[in-house]
Order: sequence, then C-alpha cells, then structure tokens
Amino acid sequence: MIFEVLTLFPEVIENYCNVSIMKRAKESGVFELRTTNPRDYTLDKHKKVDDTPYGGGAGMVLAPQPYVDAYESIKKIENSITVMLSPQGEPLNEELVCNLSNYNQIIMLCGHYEGFDERIREIIKPKEISIGDFVLTGGELPALCLIDAISRKLDGTLGKLESAEYDTFSDGLLEYPQYTKPREYRGYCVPEVLLNGNHKEIAEYRFNQQIERTKLRRPDLYEKYMNK
Ligand code: SAM
Repeated sequence: MIFEVLTLFPEVIENYCNVSIMKRAKESGVFELRTTNPRDYTLDKHKKVDDTPYGGGAGMVLAPQPYVDAYESIKKIENSITVMLSPQGEPLNEELVCNLSNYNQIIMLCGHYEGFDERIREIIKPKEISIGDFVLTGGELPALCLIDAISRKLDGTLGKLESAEYDTFSDGLLEYPQYTKPREYRGYCVPEVLLNGNHKEIAEYRFNQQIERTKLRRPDLYEKYMNK
C-alpha cells in the first residue's frame, strides 16, 4: 500500500506516522508514505497557493494550478484511487475503510482555508470522503484518519491480526468491555466470568455485552445487525 498525501503541511502527516504502531508498520514495509506539497508546484513568484473567491465572500480558496500540477506529478500505479478529503464527501465508515484497503495506492488531497477551487474537483475527479458532519480547518486530520484506519486492515500492522477481529464495527456491533490487572480497583471489580477460564462462558458473556451495548448506545447499528 502506498499512501500519497497532497498537503501544504506534510510535517503533520509525517509526524503522526513516526510514532507507535504506525511507525512500526511503515518501517516494516506494510505501507509506504509519500507527501507532495502543492506549494512546491506553484508558478506564482510569491509561492502563493490560494486567492480570494470570485463573487466575494470570506476566506481564501485553493487555486487550481498548484494542486493539479502537484497531483499530475504523482506516478500512478495499478489499482490506485484518488480521494479528496471534504466535509461534502461520502461519510467514512468501517465498510468504506475495508474497501479502500484493497487498493495498492491511495492519493489523498487535503484542503485548507475555504477549500478547493471547484475546477480541482472537475479535473481530478476524486472520490470525496468526509470524516463526519463537522468542519475542520484542514484535510490533514481526515487523511490521517484514513491512513490509520486503513493501516489496521493491512496484514502486519497489528501485532496479531486477531487484535482487530472483535473491534467495534468489525461484526456490526460495538465491542464488549475490556479489563486488565488489577482484579479490583477502587472497589470496582472485574466480572467473575472473565476470571474462571471457561472460554465458552466468556464468549457468551462478551457477546451479550456487545448486544446490550449496541442496543443502548447505537440503536441504529443494533437494528441493522438484527435485520441482517
Ligand atoms: N468551505 C468548505 C465547506 O464548507 O465545504 C470547508 C473547507 S474546510 C475549512 C478546509 C478543508 O478541511 C477542506 O477542504 C477539507 O479538506 C478539510 N475538511 C474539513 N472538514 C472535513 C471533514 N469533515 N471531512 C473531511 N475533510 C474535511
């Protein structure tokens, strides 16, 4: 998997991928991370990448030339997809993450300021993805959400593949509650069933917890699961 990120702030992307699980995955070759800065492609002598909006209004709009040129400088490989991070895009969820994990190259366009000149969309024709119904200042965090979530699906990122097996959403349900040592903390105890070593009972307990939690916290997911 090659993640290619078009961003005015490559250090944000690189720094995040230089710690913990992401660092290990990158260094062991599970994915490759590349960044391209549209500012390096601007033909403007002041290195400007944005300008005021036609028709008036607040803020600055990202100009087409630096973005399109930077995008066209990227070598596309087979089975590649281009994604634009945008609050107007398809909402990101586990299913979309799984689908994206099947590509060999994901090129991500991060916006900033007021967003992209519409012609960037018209020329590049990316798939637009939103990480939720709220607006951030830039596309770097959304791109990192994608990179992180997709990496967890790639063989070799997590210590054991089964670490993700029972995660929330993996089977359409929220995850069961987890406990570690000590057995008692401030009067709160680990449920007895988890201590008895009976795997059948533990599995039953966990499944019931998943059902109860999902019903309570995410009735929408519960309905979907029950009607599967
Ligand atoms: N003016 C734009 C609008 O109303 O649709 C919002 C621009 S936002 C301030 C700047 C950039 O942040 C966007 O171009 C996009 O790349 C990113 N962004 C902000 N919120 C996002 C979200 N919920 N999901 C994905 N990207 C987002």
